[in-house]
Amino acid sequence: MNLHEYQAKRLFADRGVPVPKSQPADSVGDAVAAAEVLGGDRWVIKAQVHAGGRGKGGGVKLVDSFAALRDEAARLLGSRLVTPQTGAAGLPVHQVLVEQPTEIARELYLSVLIDRRSERLTFLASDAGGMDIEAVAASEPRRIIRVGVNTAAGLQAFQCRYIGFRLGLEGRQSRQLQQIMFALQGLFLDSDASLIEINPLVVTSGGDLLALDAKLHLDDNALYRHADLAALRDPTQEDAREAAAAEHRLNYISLDGDIGCMVNGAGLAMATMDLVKLHGGEPANFLDVGGGATAERVAEAFKLILSDDKVAAVLVNIFGGIVRCDLIAEGIIQAVRESGVAVPLVVRLEGTNAEQGLALLNTSGLDLLAEQDFDSAAEKVVRAARGESK
Ligand code: GDP
Ligand code: MN
Repeated sequence: MNLHEYQAKRLFADRGVPVPKSQPADSVGDAVAAAEVLGGDRWVIKAQVHAGGRGKGGGVKLVDSFAALRDEAARLLGSRLVTPQTGAAGLPVHQVLVEQPTEIARELYLSVLIDRRSERLTFLASDAGGMDIEAVAASEPRRIIRVGVNTAAGLQAFQCRYIGFRLGLEGRQSRQLQQIMFALQGLFLDSDASLIEINPLVVTSGGDLLALDAKLHLDDNALYRHADLAALRDPTQEDAREAAAAEHRLNYISLDGDIGCMVNGAGLAMATMDLVKLHGGEPANFLDVGGGATAERVAEAFKLILSDDKVAAVLVNIFGGIVRCDLIAEGIIQAVRESGVAVPLVVRLEGTNAEQGLALLNTSGLDLLAEQDFDSAAEKVVRAARGESK
């Protein structure tokens, strides 16, 4: 789960990570009120969406009058912001952050994440802040400084000084960096984060470090122990189908292809996507209905897949281990009758009571292809999606 910049900055401020004074607003009037509270006659107004690259997409603007602030707030609020990270549809802007402007001397990069290879918290830093860090890593890898944290000992002061030295920071700035890094380590561990990123971490014209941007990713699997953080979820920023799936405890991920896949078990789902691709097809989604695939969950999964306009054919691939295939077949028949599947449907059943399940499907009078063989089911659905004869 992602947080908005304004939410992450609050968590930063609570830990003593320096951030500019700012206030979120969800209407033009509130934006003006926020600017009045902040004072001064210039502000930065920033669209709050779960994506970076907002600067490039026109989502970060410096304004120097209340009139200009109003104009920008009116333009952004209620619009969809397209950035290099959002895709063409963009993300809806329901809030803006009004912030005191900062005079920037240098833009740095600082993040902390779990490096799965070394199985450690790892800090990344760079003097190439404000840019796309992946691009820097690809073209100038030496500008990325990487420091692994020993899990038992935790972050050490010398590691902070090393990064400060490599970034060319002076004594006071290096001490500020150390304070920021320790605060980030604490926040990361206490919130079960998977990534905290400050891009840019700036050196102000006054010579102090300041977190100008804030990105915080939380580990969904640990959210159950952070009710306060879970409450910060903004479903408007998430894929609607993925959010609906999460509600029904279905494991669903949108993909770009046109073959809807419904499978029980993540391993079988991966194998199904592999076989679909092997036959020249592209999956529209990954969907694991889980071990306890009941008729209701199958019905919900169908709705989810069919709500995607891209889907040109559906492959259901169920292995009956604990679940019985005849019960799944009944669930499929019920779901197809209720939601009326307008695209070709291939159902592969194998395992416990597979024969009974297939017989039910074949005598249901529904327009579907029942299969017991995995490979030919995948081949048939690929051909069906292309509009080729059955
Ligand atoms: P992102 O594009 O979504 O990563 O949004 P950021 O919060 O990182 O802002 C993008 C860029 O806008 C930053 O890299 C800065 O160069 C610039 N920017 C943001 N806030 C200020 C500010 O207060 N003063 C100045 N001079 N530039 C700013
Ligand atoms: Mn940024």
